Amino acid sequence: MSKSNRTSFCSFCKKSHDEVGRMIAGLEGAQICDNCVAICKTIIERENVDNPTVDPVATPQTPFKLHKPSEIKQFLDQDIIGQEYAKRTLSVAVYNHYKRLLDEGFIESDRNFSEVGEALSEVEIEKSNILLLGPTGSGKTHLARTLAKFLDVPFAIADATTLTEAGYVGEDVENIVLRLLQAADYNVDRAMCGIIYVDEIDKIGRKTDNVSITRDVSGEGVQQALLKILEGTVCNVPPQGGRKHPNQEYIQLNTANILFICGGAFVDLEHIVSRRIGNQSIGFDSAEEPLSGPVKNNILRKTEPEDLVHFGLIPEFIGRLPMVAVLDPLTQSDLEHILLSTRNSLVKQFAKLFSMEGIKLHFSKSAINAIANKAIALKTGARALRSIMEKIMLDIMYDIPSMEGIEEVHISLSVVEGRSKPKIKYSKKPKSEKKPSSNGDQDAA
Ligand code: ADP
Repeated sequence: MSKSNRTSFCSFCKKSHDEVGRMIAGLEGAQICDNCVAICKTIIERENVDNPTVDPVATPQTPFKLHKPSEIKQFLDQDIIGQEYAKRTLSVAVYNHYKRLLDEGFIESDRNFSEVGEALSEVEIEKSNILLLGPTGSGKTHLARTLAKFLDVPFAIADATTLTEAGYVGEDVENIVLRLLQAADYNVDRAMCGIIYVDEIDKIGRKTDNVSITRDVSGEGVQQALLKILEGTVCNVPPQGGRKHPNQEYIQLNTANILFICGGAFVDLEHIVSRRIGNQSIGFDSAEEPLSGPVKNNILRKTEPEDLVHFGLIPEFIGRLPMVAVLDPLTQSDLEHILLSTRNSLVKQFAKLFSMEGIKLHFSKSAINAIANKAIALKTGARALRSIMEKIMLDIMYDIPSMEGIEEVHISLSVVEGRSKPKIKYSKKPKSEKKPSSNGDQDAA
């Protein structure tokens, strides 16, 4: 990929890629280097000054809304329950990331920042990609997606397990950049300041510590390929996706300003960390005993790069993910909150579906409690909540569109436990309907 860049030439000045900073590709093989872009910009600006009416349709670039970390966190708070530490880490990382783009002149902000002194003017702020460590269903993807929604930047999700080193069966890493480009409606400038979430990053660990005679194309090979994209490279993206082939047209996209958030469950990483910090200091035999939630998380917070190397990530790869945030396993009370109080909570979603039929939907507190309990038992975090709810609501959702005169539906503990059907309140009670017995449950919603 980088080889083809090295041999490309600017269609204007004929300088090779090696002689210029950046090369932007156009249609039918045309290319323009950053120097020529700067010259063109100057010519146009000069003409505009001489003749201000020359380009009446030119629209000024909308300044990027640079939100403060506290504003970002406040938004995340409405959608993500718990995970205080991860939300704070992400808010700061994202704020600094976009400040860096501002410093490089890549975006224009709606806020004025102080001029930095001469001593610091040459300092380059490095990119801080983020690594999220946390159990399945604790909100890693949800955090990244919510963040992109708030910032109003293109967002793409990739699954690291589907990727393989170029030339092997599987997806090329460029395809994840293509997904971002598609999310940006093929607007290269917008895509270049987007966010990519790479899930299951823990599954591309080196398969073995020993030197192997067979290539590790889905493990270390993918890490190597991702490495370049994470740190910033001009990527040749095949616009139609799929495998690259020599006669294909590519869109060139620089990944230097794309923020990468990588996430993984890193099962058993706590044992590696606890072995390093010493079992005595935490008072248990880490290798044998399963660790409980809070203890496990306190240990995970002490994760150092060397632990991740031990886990199977190569040092260069870890080096590209300097911000590490640990997500907590969700508690019973977190799950209840997720059901009830996020902006798009499941209870609100079902209430909306019922409301469209003119029906009020109520859940008792004990019903909510029991749903959260069921999810805890399934050990897949908040992921289990939707399927549990769908199962409980299936029959009533099947029936109500064909029924008339329903005013309210009540879901109680016994409905969640499968012992009774939901209690229905009619606006005009049909004669056939027996009065359902009350179980004294208090409503949660
Ligand atoms: P992960 O990526 O950690 O495996 P997800 O972010 O995909 O988990 O979570 C699955 C779903 O569960 C999300 O779409 C979201 O609806 C819900 N969810 C998970 N964690 C949270 C949380 N902390 N707060 C609110 N909702 C959550």
